Amino acid sequence: MGTKDTLCQHSSTSVCPDVSYSKCPHCLLDLCLEHVLEHQLQVRLDFHQMIDHINHQKLISNDHSVINDMKAKTLEKLENWKTTKIELVMSVYLVEQSRIESTWTASIERKTKIQNKVFQELITNSNEIEKKKNVHPNDILQLKKKLNELAEAVREIEQDTNVKLTAIMSSVQLPEIAKQLKTQETLEILLQECENNLDKKNRIILKRENECQYLEQLIIEKDEIIHKLKQKLR
Ligand SMILES: [Zn+2]
Ligand SMILES: [Zn+2]
Repeated sequence: MGTKDTLCQHSSTSVCPDVSYSKCPHCLLDLCLEHVLEHQLQVRLDFHQMIDHINHQKLISNDHSVINDMKAKTLEKLENWKTTKIELVMSVYLVEQSRIESTWTASIERKTKIQNKVFQELITNSNEIEKKKNVHPNDILQLKKKLNELAEAVREIEQDTNVKLTAIMSSVQLPEIAKQLKTQETLEILLQECENNLDKKNRIILKRENECQYLEQLIIEKDEIIHKLKQKLR
């Protein structure tokens, strides 16, 4: 309960002549009843503004555009990454595919050439044998030998092809991996050089330390000689 002497502290152009009624929790001033009510209206207005604000926030609460944008941008980056990697893989794929194709072509050409040659010889020989009056078992053996030689040559071509194709597959790698491996190799060489240099410097320091110790020893000996000489001179 305010004393009768305390006046309303309401601040405006004119001073309120009324006695204070209570302390306003809004502005912490001692106010008359009329001004307390006036301030209460202001607080109520603030309250309604807050309600409006809450309703507005609720209305826009379904708007996830900020997080959606983040997701979209990250997905775009992932897409770009995918495209670049696919281009890289495709470029390696095309090179290796063409190497496999040329290996295949070379092998088939080699095989066909040998087969044509051997079959030509076999047919010629058979025709000659057929013309003979007597067919000797050795003639058949000769033909069989030639057939075996052909089989052996084909097997050799197949093995050779397998080695070449395996080598192609085992050396397939993305250029960036090759680059990484090269960088690592370079780093290792640099590290080795650093270690060598450090080793060299350590050896020089050790040598200097030895020289210093030797000099110190010489100085001590010189001092001793001088000392002895002085003693003799006395
Ligand atoms: Zn107030
Ligand atoms: Zn007042």
